[in-house]
Amino acid sequence: MIATLTEVLSGALTEGYAVPGFVVLGWEDAVAYVRAGEAENRPVILQAGPGCRAHTPIPILGVMFRHLADVAEVPVVAHLDHATTLDECKKAIEAGFSSVMFDGSRLSLDENIRRTEAVSRLAEEHGVSVEGEIGFVGYDAGETSIGTDPEEARIFAERTRVDALAVSVGNIHLQRETDTAINFNALRAIEAATDLPLVIHGGSGIPVDDCRRLATETSVCKLNIGTELRQVFGAALRSGLDRYPHRFDRIEILNEVVDPMTDAARDILRRLAPRKSGLD
Ligand SMILES: [Zn+2]
Repeated sequence: MIATLTEVLSGALTEGYAVPGFVVLGWEDAVAYVRAGEAENRPVILQAGPGCRAHTPIPILGVMFRHLADVAEVPVVAHLDHATTLDECKKAIEAGFSSVMFDGSRLSLDENIRRTEAVSRLAEEHGVSVEGEIGFVGYDAGETSIGTDPEEARIFAERTRVDALAVSVGNIHLQRETDTAINFNALRAIEAATDLPLVIHGGSGIPVDDCRRLATETSVCKLNIGTELRQVFGAALRSGLDRYPHRFDRIEILNEVVDPMTDAARDILRRLAPRKSGLD
């Protein structure tokens, strides 16, 4: 069933787990993430970022996410990741997305507030959730992060009326190694300034124990995971092609990734919840 971000994050906040924002790049990975959610009986967020949208038009992604949500046995959020214009958010809402992230993190505080608030107004009219970002989450071997200021987070949350807040507390996008050091003290200061569910981008780089701690002991309710899953995709595809060198059919080739990606997504879902005794 289709769900908004608010619907899935409120359960996560009260019950002490986090919902993964699974980065979708195509049909096979989207199917795998929903299967993983069903297998673990947990909601999932399918998210289309700028790379995905450059490859597949938003209206196609909207229909695909909606269809997967409609037939799923668990709540599925159709989320637009890192939109930088109101127009992109409008197109996504028209296409059936139930949640949008407006990324004004490269703007001044005033401009970020002004534009995010406009997205919130539009989203409210359509019953869609909004994620905003305050501070700046940098990129591995790219732009440097700017840590989230708790007072700015408080002002931003009040004025924009977003449903979830992406923060910068040591997390970095596109990390291939799990060596991100989360600043839990900085996170506590943000938690003291706002009651909003918090979002961590760059989840792939965070060690497993810290992921679980974020999910179960803090108000972080959404962790975005992309790089780690893209690595699983690449490895599974390569191994299938090596094992069956004469294969040429696109569907046969791509089907090879679904099971490994489902297993990897289940592993992430278990990582973002309290440890079950003796099971993981
Ligand atoms: Zn991000």
